[in-house]
Amino acid sequence: MQFLPVCLNLIDAPVVLVGGGAVGTRKARLLLSAGANLTVVSPTLSEELESLLAEHAGVWKKATYHKADLHGMTLVVAATPDNATNEQIFRDASARSLPVNVVDSPELCTFIFPAIIDRDPLLIAISSSGRSPVLTRILRRKIEALIPATYGRLASFAGRFRQQVKDRIPHESTRRLFWEQVLEGAVAEQVLVGREEQAERQLAECLNDSAKGFPGEVYLVGAGPGDPDLLTFKAARLLQSADVVLYDRLVSPAILEMARRDAERIYVGKRRSQHSLPQTQINELLVQLAGQGKRVVRLKGGDPFVFGRGGEEIELLAQHDIPFQVVPGVTAANGAACYAGIPLTHRDHAQSVRFLAGYLKGNSVEHDWNMLQSTNETLVFYMGLMGLPVICEQLVAHGRSGDTPVAMIERGTQPEQRVLVGTLDTMVEIVRRAQPGGPTLIIVGDVVRLHENLSWYGQTAGDRKR
Ligand code: SAH
Repeated sequence: MQFLPVCLNLIDAPVVLVGGGAVGTRKARLLLSAGANLTVVSPTLSEELESLLAEHAGVWKKATYHKADLHGMTLVVAATPDNATNEQIFRDASARSLPVNVVDSPELCTFIFPAIIDRDPLLIAISSSGRSPVLTRILRRKIEALIPATYGRLASFAGRFRQQVKDRIPHESTRRLFWEQVLEGAVAEQVLVGREEQAERQLAECLNDSAKGFPGEVYLVGAGPGDPDLLTFKAARLLQSADVVLYDRLVSPAILEMARRDAERIYVGKRRSQHSLPQTQINELLVQLAGQGKRVVRLKGGDPFVFGRGGEEIELLAQHDIPFQVVPGVTAANGAACYAGIPLTHRDHAQSVRFLAGYLKGNSVEHDWNMLQSTNETLVFYMGLMGLPVICEQLVAHGRSGDTPVAMIERGTQPEQRVLVGTLDTMVEIVRRAQPGGPTLIIVGDVVRLHENLSWYGQTAGDRKR
């Protein structure tokens, strides 16, 4: 290891920076944000550096470097464009045993600046020991994406309770277990979404009554329309921490695989009019599992609140005072339309969009068809495969032109995505021939015409000639 990572306390420490250009400005920003008492030595200053110094009461010494500038300093940074000056600064600082950094010259550094992920008070520093700053930045982006922006809150929260927990649980390994449960469990989730009061109460209860155990929680998570890349960071994180995952037919296996390997998986699948677990039993199961202190993820296809019965599932949880969260997902209309190249609204074709249920009740699909006549509005029917003949017939019967374009997207966003295109007059026959099987979405309106030019994903089939 060429460099040992340490965290310096620079609050009010006298630090000198030689060089006032763009590179110097970047370093000054960093040093000032760490609270350094900064002096910049440079004949000129960038505009940004000038205002930074004004804002933080830093000092500008308008001059070229002289070794007397190091006097009384605790840290030295050189960012001049002149190599000879930089080398001189390095020699002078070394002679006085002062830590010195010459920007972009690892051989002239006794310390280096790592890339930082700042979730104050939580800090993550990444370094390639000066070999490849670009690589460290790429790595930083990747790690940053994994760590919620609010993680700093969690660190502050834990800090506030640190002593209290230490007094209460003197045994070190028991205490570590306690903190693991707090920081990876429902208490942490409460903190991350800003419900600190509830989190404090739960933590205090667990501390006072160790037999009580940690509370369970239910997360109603939107899994999107199938492509795992469309999962939100939050969905992925909760999936990886859940003890139990309840899922149904709409959730793709690739997404389910993201759950912890030892998590229990319960299929509560639904097919058209053929429920393997009635809704009331699903609701009760959620209450029961959370009551056992488990962290339960209920994965729903698309978005939980769009034709997802998410509302019903959380009603019972609310009645039982079980903490829950609802995590939005990409709904099928958004996912499938984007992947099929059909903008749901478009300045020239549609100024509004309506999501409708297309299932058959008896032999009809119940809608006020007179309301669905605007040619400036895109209609999206969910669950409409069986109802398609009724939908086309009713729209035409109430005045829509038989030429109105229609698309049916089967298994939208999935590798098997198929797009059938026709019109209100021709669509029923096209679908009869193509026999789609997976979940299908119907889009009605002029925007469907754009599919031909804008589609970029999956295969297309159907009557293009119209
Ligand atoms: N909550 C879900 C909808 C559940 S209703 C969401 O927000 O997407 C089930 C209906 O959603 C299906 O009948 C179908 O119309 C639609 N659907 C779900 N996933 C789909 C997909 N990948 N492709 C096309 N339609 C889909």
